[in-house]
Amino acid sequence: MAMPLFDNALRQLDEALKHVKLEADTIELLRYPKAVHSFAIPVRMDNGSLKMFKGYRVQYNDTRGPAKGGIRYHPDVNLDEVQSLAFWMAIKCAVVGVPFGGGKGGVKVNPKELSKLELERLSRGFINAVADVIGPDRDIPAPDVYTNSTVMGWMSDQYNIITRRHLPAVITGKPLELGGSLGRDDATGRGGFYVLQALRESLGVKEGATIAIQGFGNAGFHFARLASEAGYKIVAVSDSRGGIYKPEGLDPKSVYKVKHETNKLEAVYCEGSVCELVEHKKVTNSELLELDVDVLVPAALENQITSENANNIKAKVVLELANGPTSFDADETLFSKGTIVVPDILANAGGVTVSYFEWVQNKAGYYWPVDKVHQELEDIMRVAALAIDEKRSALACNMRTAAYAIAIDRIGRAVEAHGTHSFFMDEVSAK
Ligand code: GLU
Repeated sequence: MAMPLFDNALRQLDEALKHVKLEADTIELLRYPKAVHSFAIPVRMDNGSLKMFKGYRVQYNDTRGPAKGGIRYHPDVNLDEVQSLAFWMAIKCAVVGVPFGGGKGGVKVNPKELSKLELERLSRGFINAVADVIGPDRDIPAPDVYTNSTVMGWMSDQYNIITRRHLPAVITGKPLELGGSLGRDDATGRGGFYVLQALRESLGVKEGATIAIQGFGNAGFHFARLASEAGYKIVAVSDSRGGIYKPEGLDPKSVYKVKHETNKLEAVYCEGSVCELVEHKKVTNSELLELDVDVLVPAALENQITSENANNIKAKVVLELANGPTSFDADETLFSKGTIVVPDILANAGGVTVSYFEWVQNKAGYYWPVDKVHQELEDIMRVAALAIDEKRSALACNMRTAAYAIAIDRIGRAVEAHGTHSFFMDEVSAK
């Protein structure tokens, strides 16, 4: 079966391998997922019928620690996507230096078509299917596209029921009341914002710079909120149906409030509970990507900037809050025209970083104040961002390749600490 997204991921890996010295054995190991679990989840629907849903969990690599990564509910979920996302999680955890490998899960479902009761049965069913292969020291799921803290709460409870133990560290992104961490809810957007601030000068992003955001879910909204509070101008946002554009700037909090209440993306400004429509233009998702802005933030799904539209991107900086929004070919086009792409494996790593804090708190049974979460997150994101920026100058490559170079060096050294080809062969030839 052709796996286009995973091929794209391997091309990124190959590009970075030009700059990193690793043993051939290690390189071979990085090209394969450690384990791929594929299953069907039976769900009793509200009308009494039984429906089967296709589910996956891929544990890509666990050399640096237990596999880690979210679970996605989306009608387009497939193995190629889940495997690529699991690979990127392994790279991402190494980029920010958290002691995890990479994993990812998904269910092919449109969650908007399910009742809350059906969603709960599906989420518990997912854990029934994977309970033997996950665990606080094996593989730790978390939220991803269209899953949230409520879903994580059901999943963690189901794991506790199966194991007859209270093991909150098996899942992160849980509700606070069930052992979640303060600051996990906005961590992905906040991490992206800290990266932007850390690299601001080097990226040439000035005070009042204009930003367009594709996707207004958890990551997109919180990034917009923090960026707007810091004086940037959020001129466009979109959801899966299309976007709104106002060159003078939108108020992200008002837009989010109305979207939350009515499920519609509207260009509104609210004073208290009174919201009024403001003048704006409607744009399609593809038009949003091509707007003349300073910073473009893809915060939805993969494969949005491809060889089809890369040449039309006008933003000087692309900050990837989504996973895999830019194809390998598009990366090359953007690099050659001087557009800087701040890659997903750095820009959206705030989520898994605070997941790591949640896991640490669960294991210690000791919970941190939110200021500590923010401070530790900012430190990790800044250190990672600056190291990557330095690497890209040293290697004269794009930021993604620089981030990969740092990550695969870390993973590679962990693999090689178990022994390399030459280490074992010296022993054999000495006999
Ligand atoms: N789904 C998020 C990501 O893609 C978070 C993963 C996690 O917290 O484990 O990075």
